[in-house]
Amino acid sequence: HKNGQTKETGNNLYLPIFPFREDLLRAITQHQILVIEGETGSGKTTQIPQYLMEDVRLHSRRNEIGCTQPRRVAAMSVAARVAEETGVKLGNEVGYSIRFEDCTSERTVLKYMTDGMLLREFLTEPDLASYSVVIIDEAHERTLHTDILFGLIKDIARFRSDLKVLVASATLDTERFSCFFDDAPVFRIPGRRFPVDIFYTKAPEADYLEACVVSVLQIHVTQAPGDCLVFLTGQEEIEACCEMLQERCRRLGSKIAELVVLPIYANLPSDMQAKIFSPTPPGARKVVVATNIAETSLTIDGIIYVIDPGFCKQKSYNARTGMDVFALSLPQASANQRAGRAGRVAAGKCFRLYTAWAFKHEMEETTIPEIQRTNLGNVVLLLKSLGINDLIHFDFMDPPPHETLVLALEQLYALGALNHLGELTKMGRRMAELPVDPMLSKMILASEQYKCSEEVLTIAAMLSVNNSIFYRPKDKVVHADNARMNFTVPGGDHLVLLNVYNQWVESGFSTQWCYENFIQFRSMRRARDVRDQLEGLMERIEVEVVSSLEDSVPIRKAITAGYFYHTARLSKGGYKTVKHQQTVYVHPNSSLFEEQPRWLIYHELVFTTKEFMRQVPMFVCDRDRQRLVAGSGSSLLQEQRAGGQQQQEDAPQTGQDQGRAGIEAQGGHGQ
Ligand code: ADP
Ligand code: MG
Repeated sequence: HKNGQTKETGNNLYLPIFPFREDLLRAITQHQILVIEGETGSGKTTQIPQYLMEDVRLHSRRNEIGCTQPRRVAAMSVAARVAEETGVKLGNEVGYSIRFEDCTSERTVLKYMTDGMLLREFLTEPDLASYSVVIIDEAHERTLHTDILFGLIKDIARFRSDLKVLVASATLDTERFSCFFDDAPVFRIPGRRFPVDIFYTKAPEADYLEACVVSVLQIHVTQAPGDCLVFLTGQEEIEACCEMLQERCRRLGSKIAELVVLPIYANLPSDMQAKIFSPTPPGARKVVVATNIAETSLTIDGIIYVIDPGFCKQKSYNARTGMDVFALSLPQASANQRAGRAGRVAAGKCFRLYTAWAFKHEMEETTIPEIQRTNLGNVVLLLKSLGINDLIHFDFMDPPPHETLVLALEQLYALGALNHLGELTKMGRRMAELPVDPMLSKMILASEQYKCSEEVLTIAAMLSVNNSIFYRPKDKVVHADNARMNFTVPGGDHLVLLNVYNQWVESGFSTQWCYENFIQFRSMRRARDVRDQLEGLMERIEVEVVSSLEDSVPIRKAITAGYFYHTARLSKGGYKTVKHQQTVYVHPNSSLFEEQPRWLIYHELVFTTKEFMRQVPMFVCDRDRQRLVAGSGSSLLQEQRAGGQQQQEDAPQTGQDQGRAGIEAQGGHGQ
């Protein structure tokens, strides 16, 4: 591969890493594990793997180089970039692998992948034999999967002396990585960084979205040339911000120079994603409105101004309530990374839309590792499948809270994935084969028993893209809502999703149909891909895919088998979750918003500014007076016999409130 020489990518020779190429390769030859620290944009992700590919000492065999990324978008985008730099077609020598999308081939030597995908590869190849080098990139992000990889890779490196391990990180925490990997040496790439002036607001901003828009326009009108980067928390906000900016520019017309507004977030189609890297037309200014993907994972050249409202969406899990909460926060370390984005090409400016006091007193210093604030069900199931039974003594860089671990074990037991000794059951083994959350995989596997796997696969696929199926443009809200209403079927939102998908199939997967019905074609296409993949996996674990011909009852039973933990009961003013007696509300988007069934099963809970809201998909238990009882680990869903006993004997002993739940669930029904 001749890289760095083509016209377009010739400036790779100027990346901070380039002068250290030989030193770095020598260090990698000499040490099995190496921690690499370098400023964002220094070339760690795109260059180091290429150096390795070209070096016969390190890469002579057929073995692959794997490079993990915490984010899907980064894996795809970086792979595309490197394929371009090396002049190969993406998916050939250079490819990527993310959940439900494998863009690699027999020829692939360099594979960018999400950390979750590498973790899953341990299932089929516990020693990662097909890799000669594994790069754990963006280590400072400390995602759950990256943290688990640390433990597993450290372990296999002991007996795979031929495996090279690189841990790459922005300039944060590198001492800790070195310490964890038995004092592995740290290779520092000296960064170039220009000074960044930081400005704070005098008083807190009431509406940070509006404040962002105003700040961009002010910069555009008053400041010297240079592109602008705005950090927001998610797709909706980003789209709103872009619309507002475009609208105001339209109104100002030719009074101002051209402003090129570009969004970047995970669900954006990749051709749109690529646009953020295109050069700004002369005389214009580019504004990239991004999630925190642009904090360290992607580097956009030419940024001089950064606008930081001081928020990112962080999932945090409350083991006591079993609830995921999205909190808005931002640690100081991230705020500083963001500011740093302004100083890559020249002296820059960072506008923080919060007060200096808030920075000092209200923001945490660093991010809490995800492992300490997330549901561990998935990972525990995976580790158990890898034969790691003693989770308490697993080599965690930072151990998860004890109660989260216990809750994960409890849930897996209730789902029938573990037996009473905490050992993996046959069901658990099959569940681990599916790259989805335990509850979802249980739902899918239960569909075999109820002979409705066709439908349940569709529902599972639709749930995985759920947030972006219905299109609701601001100027056509009424039309969009009407279109959505037309899909309503009795039985709740899962069945609505199924209905949408089936109608789309009937339309011949039509784009036009999507357009007319305010359905996002992209999301549907993705749902179809996910469905195909899941169907392929079903074959592998020998689950027959059959269709339920009668009615929705079997489908609802399968859903209940997976999601019985998520049962809620109508009570004054809202619903109460059965497990934790938490008051929650039906989301106004739900097909059940008006109906108010006495019992329902929800897919997930979302905490918004006001209250706990249930996210769209829901499922009524008692509509047709079905008696559905969350039952034992082995056969979760049992139809209650008239006057049946209070609780199944082998029902999970999941603490006292579980027992209460069983009793209440039965008390509420009559047949
Ligand atoms: P690091 O991993 O150290 O943060 P990278 O290897 O990601 O650095 O980036 C090195 C350079 O490559 C940066 O200047 C960045 O702008 C550029 N780059 C990375 N991805 C792309 C892309 N998709 N298109 C254009 N330039 C890119
Ligand atoms: Mg990088």
